[in-house]
Amino acid sequence: MYSLDDTIAAIATSIGHSGVGIIKVSGPEAHPIAHRLFRSARGVTDFQPYRLHYGQIIDPNTDQPVDEALVVFMPKPRSYTCQDVIEIQAHGGIVPLQKILQLVLSRGARLAEPGEMTLRAFLNGRLDLAQAEAVLDIIQAKTDAALRVANEQLGGTLSGQVQKVRAELLHTLAYLEASIDFVEDEIPPQAVIPPLQAAAGQLADLIQSADYGQIYRQGVRAAIVGRPNVGKSSLLNALLRGNRAIVTDIPGTTRDTLEETVNIRGIPLALVDTAGIRAEVSDEVERIGVDRSRAALGQADLALMVVDSSTPLEAADREIAAAIGQKPVILAINKTDLTADAAAPQLDKFLPAAPRVEISALNLTGIETLETAVADLILGGKVTPSDTPLVSNPRHKALLEQALQHVESAVSAHQAEVSADLVSIDVRGAVETLGEITGETVTEDLLDTIFSNFCIGK
Ligand code: GDP
Repeated sequence: MYSLDDTIAAIATSIGHSGVGIIKVSGPEAHPIAHRLFRSARGVTDFQPYRLHYGQIIDPNTDQPVDEALVVFMPKPRSYTCQDVIEIQAHGGIVPLQKILQLVLSRGARLAEPGEMTLRAFLNGRLDLAQAEAVLDIIQAKTDAALRVANEQLGGTLSGQVQKVRAELLHTLAYLEASIDFVEDEIPPQAVIPPLQAAAGQLADLIQSADYGQIYRQGVRAAIVGRPNVGKSSLLNALLRGNRAIVTDIPGTTRDTLEETVNIRGIPLALVDTAGIRAEVSDEVERIGVDRSRAALGQADLALMVVDSSTPLEAADREIAAAIGQKPVILAINKTDLTADAAAPQLDKFLPAAPRVEISALNLTGIETLETAVADLILGGKVTPSDTPLVSNPRHKALLEQALQHVESAVSAHQAEVSADLVSIDVRGAVETLGEITGETVTEDLLDTIFSNFCIGK
């Protein structure tokens, strides 16, 4: 079982050199610990709630100052965790922060687990589970659009919708269960079918929004492929120039391929480049080019195939096109600044189903059109919904799909005049599944999985 009675502490800012670093302490001992370690510059003897107090952190063993600090006390329940919280803002160096943390721990606090502050906020009812997960999404948002989706979720929009459907299903469930006890009263189908169908419709809408939501939250991986010298690196640079690169540390980036993430119309697009082929023998270069394109394609959701419009297509172009297979692909016809249209006659039949954009990676023409084509391909050619998608987390999507299945089988069971107690099993299944999104029905294992993805101090 999770303990809420002890006091936890952690460095809440990232470790390194920075102007300010913050140590968070949450729990019943937070106030006494801070009181013991802090010496106010103005002789204030106790912390006033929600006020910044300026002074020094003192090592009580030596009575020596450790660092200058600002300390704020947020008494329960109006704090992040709904417990007494102390935040110590000191200088953002590794040694002062570690030293202060050690002092806090030596006075009776325990080092917080990753996500434990947010777990406490959840267990104390300040956030439901979907909102708690949104906190992590905000921290990890890669674009403005991703941030907007996460903020909606933190604000409770998704939870509200899920709760609404759940409440309607509970109502139907109560009706079904009452009718089990009074078998002589037959259940009129209109009391069960229309509300279940309405719930199914709402669930289907939420599931549909997940297709967009996941794109913004997780992004999409594109491979820039093509034979050597067609301009892949130049295109990568052109895309990076127009879109401030997002710093990411996506695992799986190999030595052979370079990966950078750019923001394309709010979609985080990780570009896997196959640059850096420098070999003496030209045959070998072609070979490596094809192999690297294949490797990059293996990691990608879609392909950006670059061809050189100034030279005829070669066998390597066709091999790479074949390697793309059924993957969504855009054909970038590069070097259109050069007059010789040597490849033009062959290009009509090359990747005929792919959207094609003429560009010059050198002169930066056609790049915006290419970006629009990429965004259209990712979003399925549909106009991006003006509403922010509500569902972005694969966990939520899977649960919504499960709930929908339960509701649909309840509808067919009831239509087939299956007995009410069997129909109610499915409806209850849907209710419980939806409860896992917001955390009404949740196991300790699931909480461990979710909160272990958080950083320490959050
Ligand atoms: P990669 O091997 O496919 O990555 O190709 P690079 O990006 O290294 O480009 C190969 C050569 O083509 C370089 O000399 C580039 O300057 C040149 N290049 C790339 N894009 C264009 C373009 O749009 N127009 C012209 N004229 N040259 C280009």
